[in-house]
Amino acid sequence: MSFNTNHKQVIIAGGGPSGAATALSLISRGINCLIAEAEPCPKFKAGETIPPLSLPLLQRLKISHLLNDKAHLHCYGNKLIWGDSEPYEKSFLLNTHSHGWHIDRTYFEQQLKLHTIDAGAEWLAGYRLTQCKPGNNGWDITLTNTEGQQQYFSCDFIADASGRASRIARSMGIQRNKLDNLTGITMCFHISGGNNPFYTFIESSPHGWWYAAPLSDSRIITTYFTDTDIVDPGMMQTGHHLEAIKNTKMIKGLLDATIINNTAPATYTASTSWLSRRHDKSWLAVGDAAIAYDPISSYGIISALESGYYAGHAIADTLKGSKDALIAYDWLLNKAFATYKEMYIHQYSLEKRWIEEEFWKRRR
Ligand SMILES: Cc1cc2nc3c(=O)[nH]c(=O)nc-3n(C[C@H](O)[C@H](O)[C@H](O)COP(=O)(O)OP(=O)(O)OC[C@H]3O[C@@H](n4cnc5c(N)ncnc54)[C@H](O)[C@@H]3O)c2cc1C
Repeated sequence: MSFNTNHKQVIIAGGGPSGAATALSLISRGINCLIAEAEPCPKFKAGETIPPLSLPLLQRLKISHLLNDKAHLHCYGNKLIWGDSEPYEKSFLLNTHSHGWHIDRTYFEQQLKLHTIDAGAEWLAGYRLTQCKPGNNGWDITLTNTEGQQQYFSCDFIADASGRASRIARSMGIQRNKLDNLTGITMCFHISGGNNPFYTFIESSPHGWWYAAPLSDSRIITTYFTDTDIVDPGMMQTGHHLEAIKNTKMIKGLLDATIINNTAPATYTASTSWLSRRHDKSWLAVGDAAIAYDPISSYGIISALESGYYAGHAIADTLKGSKDALIAYDWLLNKAFATYKEMYIHQYSLEKRWIEEEFWKRRR
């Protein structure tokens, strides 16, 4: 086994939005990089709403054109039942950017992957970063595929873009903290008939809240968010879950159509969580691996892209000798996290109807 023959300047573990954005930023600075992505091809991930204020960042990353595709729908605002039993609307039409998007997430990740490869990144699909050790030539890296085959590299710098699990940083002994135990139970419906409402729908309930969004190809995605320790186990059964949707005030209207087929309920961790240390001299964490946000913020994808943009520049500066680029990067992450925490407290404090219920009490 030789780590030295295959030397890269940067190896990025994870080919989600944060890994792709990190690579794009690095390439724009003339730094070669390899993305190792555990999955052989993009698979379904929860998270499809991109808010309008994301446009300038998408333009800066030169990827805004990827959303001009019929796979992605425009979204013109939010319809909410939150803090009041009557629905109200927050339209984007008067904003600087008049619409956001409901993306086809799997397709978007495939677009990002092809775009990143076109830009000049190497992409090793189906390989998980399983080991990184300090070596003679920076880091010695082992990548392993599902058949157990291994490839060996060395690199100067590692970016942990492995998502909430932050596997690389945690393998170095860095602790992950969390603010809550939020979990999301998602179903996707393929419908016939019904109106195609170009809105995001959010509805609070005694033990959590509902989210729903229309997707291309006559699909509706719904997610029920609650805490892992108070979740009704029946919500994992299709029939029970559908009954719960029927008991909502607003979300149920979206399924007022013929359901052609639907996925089974699937659970995703959605807590606010963060690494206690997000960089050292020759590694950093980016996207959810660094800080993961509550989906009520709609900030996950854009934060992954934004932190990737800055991570790439911070790594490039560091490789060119800067001593403070990573400190500046961490400062930006902390600043965004502080703003988010204010928003989080404010948003949950608006709902006062169930303040005695555990889910809401915990968020006050
Ligand atoms: C239920 C739910 C709903 C959400 N809704 C929204 C929403 O509406 N809008 C929004 O903006 N955000 C939303 N989010 C958040 C959003 O999906 C994430 O913030 C976003 O995916 C973060 O991107 P990332 O690149 O950091 O991580 P990920 O997208 O998680 O990518 C990490 C990648 O790393 C790979 N990987 C893992 N380990 C390794 C390894 N050892 N080696 C190599 N590869 C590895 C994984 O296969 C994965 O592809 C939601 C999240 C949840 C859970």
